[in-house]
Amino acid sequence: MAAYEAVIGLEVHVQLSTASKLFCSCPTSFGQPANSNVCEVCAGMPGALPVVNRQAVHYAALVGLATNCEVHRRSVFARKNYFYPDLPAGYQISQFDMPICEHGHLDVTVDGRSKRIGITRIHMENDAGKNIHAQGENISYVDLNRAGTPLVEIVSEPDMRSSQEAVAYLKALYGIVTYLGVCDGNMEEGSFRCDANVSIRPVGATAFGTRTELKNLNSFRNVQRAIEYEIARQQDALADGEAVVQETRLYDAVKNVTVSMRGKEEAHDYRYFPDPDQLPVEISAEEMERWRSELPELPQHRMARFLEMTGLPEAEAEVLVQSRALADFFESAAAASDARKAANFILGPLMRELNARGGDFSQCAMTADGLAELVRLVDKGVISAKIANDIFPDLFSTGAMPENYVKERGLVQISDSSALEAAVDKVLADNPAEVEAFKGGKTKLMSFFVGQIMRATRGKANPAMVNELLQKKLS
Ligand code: ADP
Ligand code: MG
Ligand code: ZN
Repeated sequence: MAAYEAVIGLEVHVQLSTASKLFCSCPTSFGQPANSNVCEVCAGMPGALPVVNRQAVHYAALVGLATNCEVHRRSVFARKNYFYPDLPAGYQISQFDMPICEHGHLDVTVDGRSKRIGITRIHMENDAGKNIHAQGENISYVDLNRAGTPLVEIVSEPDMRSSQEAVAYLKALYGIVTYLGVCDGNMEEGSFRCDANVSIRPVGATAFGTRTELKNLNSFRNVQRAIEYEIARQQDALADGEAVVQETRLYDAVKNVTVSMRGKEEAHDYRYFPDPDQLPVEISAEEMERWRSELPELPQHRMARFLEMTGLPEAEAEVLVQSRALADFFESAAAASDARKAANFILGPLMRELNARGGDFSQCAMTADGLAELVRLVDKGVISAKIANDIFPDLFSTGAMPENYVKERGLVQISDSSALEAAVDKVLADNPAEVEAFKGGKTKLMSFFVGQIMRATRGKANPAMVNELLQKKLS
């Protein structure tokens, strides 16, 4: 079969964490009773006049400044016309030929290699409402609470060549918007969501192949799996002599497949035109300078500091700066314990828990103080590293403080030498043949004895003391 390479471009929707909506003063709060955060603007009533939220403009500009974009001092809102029940006005207020930001880029590292991903444009727009299809009833409802929530859409160039590059780019963007504090980063609630455009072409070709657009990718893991599935599906289609059809496909995370949803619409289908209700968005030179000067420490800079603090390899330090919440968590745990050891808990057991939950740090109930306490408990020999790893999932999901937790459950390490000696003696007495062999030169059996003692003490024996005792008794 011919060798193909993938071409991927991402469209990322970021919900801006302003208190009120983009064109009215309704709150943006999530999880409210249906249609309780709705006014005549949200409902698209004729004659209702939308007024742009200046905080949203500020936030959108910050995203552009942090992604090396040209941020335009003048941009224009346009109507994107289409019919859907969750869009009562019959058009979305978006930006078309004069978006607020253009021509940016981000550098990402995959497998030790740095790669620049172009950002075509960033524009502001309002979100639609939600259709709710009632279970077992032949009826659908519309909830307009989300209608009018401010979004920026960040459109990348088709510069990515693998699912790994796409996820690295997406994580870099996620880091930036959460560091800026312009997005709460809650992927489950849809605050940060991504559509992936995927095509393949023969290696060496310069023209792009036909692309499909994948939707419903609500976690980093789903983005990766959906892209991989789609690349394989397109390869199979071409191998079977079929063409790839330009269309929108929905990712089904349970079955791990993409399913055709609808044909692809083109820009001209939307009849874009400048919104006559809106003045152009203007940003003064002074305002732009102030915003630029207020940019917080961004992930790449923070990573350089973390590399110093921990001496970790770059790929691991990168994990720590993925989101501001995680980086803050690490930094305060490190300050109260040991940077390298705190980092190791995050990179191992904490990432395992996060990955099992789609990578969303808001799911972590453990506090930075909790992690620091856990590091200290292991450091002081109160619990073994093994016990610390075993109880980690529970600490992660309950937020219980480790010291109390291990005391309540009797997990405190046995460092009492007479108790340990009894355990060691029993294991040696129970395994006379192995003792014989050890003394005859089979020193590899040391780990067998240690294992037996750990099992007998349910992992609570202090390993350093066990080793010392064994050395003494077997010599
Ligand atoms: P639309 O607005 O219709 O979705 P755009 O031209 O804005 O179309 O492109 C959307 C996304 O698709 C961009 O991120 C772009 O990089 C990506 N893209 C365009 N062509 C291809 C292609 N052949 N393969 C993969 N991605 C592509
Ligand atoms: Mg698109
Ligand atoms: Zn409103």
